[in-house]
Amino acid sequence: MALSTDLLEILVCPVCKGDLEYLREQERLVCHACRLAYRIEEDIPIMLPDEAESLGGEPSADQAGSGEESGK
Ligand SMILES: [Zn+2]
Repeated sequence: MALSTDLLEILVCPVCKGDLEYLREQERLVCHACRLAYRIEEDIPIMLPDEAESLGGEPSADQAGSGEESGK
């Protein structure tokens, strides 16, 4: 089953506290402000910035100076 609308309404981006868009076909919750996509596994949204996928493009907040990225 899909996520309930009740749940979707209370979910916000953990980074910016903004609204998320639910992409049913991709099973993702997308924050356009952060350009992050949160996975939904077994109907449970994984609301962890560390687990989110970057949508690419230009991030809204540049972090000049920090050359290291975790992961990979
Ligand atoms: Zn956000």
